[in-house]
Amino acid sequence: MRKKIVAGNWKMNNTLEAGLQLASEIVNIAQDETDSSVTLVLAPPFIHLYAVQKLIKESSNVYLAAQNCNEYDSGAYTGEVSVDMLKSVGASYVILGHSERREYFNENNQQLAAKVSKVLEKGLTPIFCCGEPLDIREEGDPYAYVNKQIEESLFHLSSEEVGHVVIAYEPIWAIGTGKTASSDQAQQMHKNIRDFLANQYGKDRAESISILYGGSCKPDNARELFSRQDVDGGLIGGASLKSRDFIEIAKSY
Ligand code: PEP
Repeated sequence: MRKKIVAGNWKMNNTLEAGLQLASEIVNIAQDETDSSVTLVLAPPFIHLYAVQKLIKESSNVYLAAQNCNEYDSGAYTGEVSVDMLKSVGASYVILGHSERREYFNENNQQLAAKVSKVLEKGLTPIFCCGEPLDIREEGDPYAYVNKQIEESLFHLSSEEVGHVVIAYEPIWAIGTGKTASSDQAQQMHKNIRDFLANQYGKDRAESISILYGGSCKPDNARELFSRQDVDGGLIGGASLKSRDFIEIAKSY
C-alpha cells in the first residue's frame, strides 16, 4: 500500500528561533492528534535542518526533508550542499525540481535526473516536483508537459529505484496564488501520471508510488483533494508555516 504523506515546504522563511518554535508545535500536536498512518515531513532551510532534526528525533511519524541538494558527491561547488551532508544531519527526504528552483535557478529535467539518482544512491527519498504553467493549462497540453518532465527526470531509473520516489504534482498557477486545482483537475493529472508510470514500469509499480498534490492546499480544501483515488497527500507551502493549519491538513485524510 502506498504511503500517505503530508510535507511542509518552509522555503526561505523563519529565523532559527521561529523555525524551532514551529517544529516543536507541529511535533507536539502531531503526537496527540495525527494518525500514525500519515507520514509528516518538514522541509526547513538547510541551515536549520540539524536543529529541527533534534526536535523531531523521538517522533514516530515526523521526518526531515531538505528543499534541494547538489548532484555531486563533494568538491569545489561553493555554496552547495551534498546528499551526504543532508544524510549526516538526519534528512530522510529531499524535495527536487520545485517550480521555484526551475524558474529562478534554471534547474532542468536533465540536472534533476542526476539529482534524483544521487538522492536514491545515498538511500534518501526524492520528492520529485512536476507541474505545468498557466499558459500550458489554458492553451496547451498539461498532461504531455508533465509527462515530459517525468520521462526526462525519472525514466532512467530501474523499476526498483522508481519505487523509492515520491512525486508531487504542483500546477505552477496554483502555487502561492490561493487558486487551487479542483479535485477533478488534481485527480485527472494524478491518474495521468500513474498511467504514464504504469506504461513504463507496470501497473503494480505505478500503484505503489505516492503522488502528492501541491498548490494552495489549505485546511478547507485538503479533505476534498485527499479523498480522490490517486491523491496520496500534499506538498504544502504557505499553510505549512502555521502549525495548526499544517496539522489540520494532515488530519484531512
Ligand atoms: C509549494 O510551494 O510547494 C506550494 C504548494 O505552495 P503553496 O501551498 O503556498 O501554494
